[in-house]
Amino acid sequence: MPKVTVKIDPSECILAANCVGIEPKLFQIGQPSHVELIDANGMVQGTEYTFEAVDAQVELIEEAVDSCPTRAISMEVAV
Ligand code: SF4
Repeated sequence: MPKVTVKIDPSECILAANCVGIEPKLFQIGQPSHVELIDANGMVQGTEYTFEAVDAQVELIEEAVDSCPTRAISMEVAV
């Protein structure tokens, strides 16, 4: 499975929640000022998280990256 690193730039996030709507298993609104990342067990991982993802989830994360109006999400995929 590809290893994915997802990062949120808290200074850019405006809590538009597009990402939460697309992939609520990874993005969560738990802070007053920015979105945060959660793992498969719902544990908060902060604004940077590396994990193994199936291809379908990688596609969802790419969709979330593209949907963010302020480009606050970035991701790297290592196969
Ligand atoms: S889509 Fe972008 S601005 Fe909206 S909550 Fe997600 S990271 Fe923040």
